[in-house]
Amino acid sequence: MVVNSCAVTNDAVAATRRAIRRARRERPASELIVTGCAAQIDPASFAAMPEVTRVIGNSDKLNPAAWASTDPVIVRDIARVLDTAPHMSDAFEGQTRAFVEVQNGCDHACTFCAIPAGRGPSRSATIDGVVEQVAGLVTAGHGEVVLTGVDLSSYGHDLSSTPKLGDLVAAIIERTSLRRLRLSSLDPAAIDGKLLELLTNEPRVMPHVHLSFQAGDDMVLKRMRRRHSRADAVRLVERLKSARPEIAIGADLIAGFPTEDDAMAANTLALIDDCAIVHAHVFVYSPRARTPAARMPQVPPPIAKARAQALREAAARRHCDWLQLQVGTTTEILVERPGTRGHSPGFADVTLPPCPPGTIVTARLTHIEGDQLIGMPL
Ligand code: SF4
Repeated sequence: MVVNSCAVTNDAVAATRRAIRRARRERPASELIVTGCAAQIDPASFAAMPEVTRVIGNSDKLNPAAWASTDPVIVRDIARVLDTAPHMSDAFEGQTRAFVEVQNGCDHACTFCAIPAGRGPSRSATIDGVVEQVAGLVTAGHGEVVLTGVDLSSYGHDLSSTPKLGDLVAAIIERTSLRRLRLSSLDPAAIDGKLLELLTNEPRVMPHVHLSFQAGDDMVLKRMRRRHSRADAVRLVERLKSARPEIAIGADLIAGFPTEDDAMAANTLALIDDCAIVHAHVFVYSPRARTPAARMPQVPPPIAKARAQALREAAARRHCDWLQLQVGTTTEILVERPGTRGHSPGFADVTLPPCPPGTIVTARLTHIEGDQLIGMPL
């Protein structure tokens, strides 16, 4: 059994420990190996769990010798790891949407974040390697590919020709017949000109961006050591929306960052309207060991939770209004398994009468049931 651990919040680490205990209960006699970010950052605590047989850090999870070894703990300094995952997936069975990791690691030092300690420095897959992978996924029948990375916007700086993410996206569009390309989270401080052009003008690049805003208050952003201001965020969204009005904005937001007062929290809340955020990922701040923010004055957890709730409710209202605006329009839905739902280009979840999975149907969005858009193929 392999448990791939997450370290992004304390809750994620706790969930990893629960998964380990559950797996052990289900298979008392099996070997149980823990890998991933939490194992990399804190191998001793996982090795000390009686349920765990071995710990293999992110530093060695791509190393066959580590898996063949019997050493109880194999973890090296992640800062020395420079490889990216080889592109091994020819298809994602049972899914219309495929994911391609084009970048891993991060060279930044946001004060709340433990990810660089778990993933190491930023490194990128080559353009040729990614294009080949995407072409293979298209041949396997995938209509949509999502490019992923820990710090996707920093793609390419470590490669010899230092391409930008925009160059990679342009190469995929030019050299493959992929129908729909989507990008995972982007840093608002690092969107290159070519990428902006493609996001606003290229129909095969989906009108949907997810931006790692984290906060909407300049003092909080500074204390987080983010590289953008509130005004930068608003300006970026204005540029995107003026060029491509239908573009759907998603964002990561953290509630209850240390020192955040009511006025600062209100600025983040107002960002949901100021940046027309319709897909929000809201996190309650979680003090990660050995990060600078963990040593700052903390916001009491009940207050942080209440602020997160307010952000979620505001984002849900905005999402609802956005769905409502689409009623009566016609759009292209990529049908997902089992064939009764799919997503629009802006990533609205749409329920459909049964259609063949993997096809793109033109559908009229007729009404909303609950929080679901209902589409009728034309
Ligand atoms: S850019 Fe993202 S991954 Fe890197 S330190 Fe900041 S929050 Fe963490």
